[in-house]
Amino acid sequence: MARMPHAVVVPYPGSGNINPALQLAKLLHHHGVYITFVNTEHNHRRVQATEGANAVRGRKGFRFEAIPDGLVEADRDAGDYDIGLSAATSHRCAEPLRELVRRLNGMADVPPVTCMLPTALMSFALDVARELGLPSMVLWGGSAASLMGHMRLRELQERGYLPLKAESCLTNGHLQRTVIDWIPGMPPISLGDISSFVRTTEPDEFGLRFNIVEANGCTKAGALILNTFDDLEADVLEALRTEYPCIYTIGPLGSLLSHHLPDNDVIAGGLSLWKQDTECLAWLDMQGPSSVVYANFGSLTVLTADQLAEFAWGLAASGHPFLWSIRDNLVPGAGAGLSSLPPEFVAATAGRCCLTTWCPQEQVLRHPAVGCFVTHNGWNSTCESLAAGVPMVCWPVFADQYTICKYACEEWGVGLRLDDDVRREQVAGHVKQAMKSEEMRRSAAGWKDKAEDAVAPGGGGSSYANLQSMVTALGSVSS
Ligand code: UDP
Repeated sequence: MARMPHAVVVPYPGSGNINPALQLAKLLHHHGVYITFVNTEHNHRRVQATEGANAVRGRKGFRFEAIPDGLVEADRDAGDYDIGLSAATSHRCAEPLRELVRRLNGMADVPPVTCMLPTALMSFALDVARELGLPSMVLWGGSAASLMGHMRLRELQERGYLPLKAESCLTNGHLQRTVIDWIPGMPPISLGDISSFVRTTEPDEFGLRFNIVEANGCTKAGALILNTFDDLEADVLEALRTEYPCIYTIGPLGSLLSHHLPDNDVIAGGLSLWKQDTECLAWLDMQGPSSVVYANFGSLTVLTADQLAEFAWGLAASGHPFLWSIRDNLVPGAGAGLSSLPPEFVAATAGRCCLTTWCPQEQVLRHPAVGCFVTHNGWNSTCESLAAGVPMVCWPVFADQYTICKYACEEWGVGLRLDDDVRREQVAGHVKQAMKSEEMRRSAAGWKDKAEDAVAPGGGGSSYANLQSMVTALGSVSS
């Protein structure tokens, strides 16, 4: 026990970071690493409410712990919940985490902590590691290109691109017209596609400052872990590798996990913050191959009632059957999830539409009935779609989703981009095109094959081999 490596995994408290962190933790546990998985107390309670106590009961060598996120309950209803959460975690979580490590180190039946492993946006955990003399690795939750772009936000500020000079720059085409062609390893990219955080005229805006600090803060870790694979982002990875001493590309994590743990039930299945609807899988079973449009905007995106109506009527007009996931808080203030849909739409699409509030997305995307994915291009969603070989209709709205959308559409040939100002005609047109385009289907199938190659055991797969090296490195710091 004394020599067993012990990683304390600390994900940013949202699904986009919890999911890949849990996948990584399961893989490391499978390879003999003792895991302490740290949720916030708020999410710990939510998981128990949706998945039951079993989800966080843990197993031998895998324990769940919780620390406060620093928010009071009233803050959780605020319109800028994410910003509040980021500020609170970065300012108030260090001490509880330090305390937790001390407590773990005092437990007779637990091996001493040998590595701190936070996700992005949790760089306070890297500071705690340094203070305690612990080695650390960081899991960046986005693509390699999104990390490179976010790291360059600071230089964009220094070169005078940011903050924007006037409010008019947000709407007059400036963000699209201004092309940045000096980011290492990246093709020329419009300013607006680097991040949502460029959309500010304030010199000290919190979101921009926080993301500059956090993206560059990854360099404090001894190693960087990316949920991507070498073939997918070869150029930008080569450039990143000149800046980071040690990068492990181990994606797509979901595919790597299914190779290692085919039944995926060694620990809890997942840590869903919403109640999962599995009935939609039975509905998919009744649909023809590649006949269904799947729409889902992840865990954070919010829509106005008008945007929801445009998507609804666009999906209806595409003529295809569709599965649409509408989270309870997708349209803030409009009442719970599905009730925010126009009643005429529900009547008009009865029989060819399945509505859910939260579904097992990886399983949905891998279902043979799914023909295209209408997505916000969160990195996990995009990676899961690439791994499943499903073309995308893209509507990015936040953080690195613009960069990911650009790569999906222009570099990987698997996406069609919707305008920011969503219109039903364009939704219907893009969906029809994505469903019938042989070219997109071929590209998507090609990336699926390459993703499979990357996670293949037996020497050939780069992600598979990188995971082994990472485990060896974790083992060597504990001995
Ligand atoms: N997800 C899910 N069911 C849903 C919607 C999303 O399981 O109905 C999962 C999805 O598979 C992905 C994560 O939640 O792993 C969302 O992460 P992503 O990076 O795509 O977007 P975010 O939620 O961070 O915007």
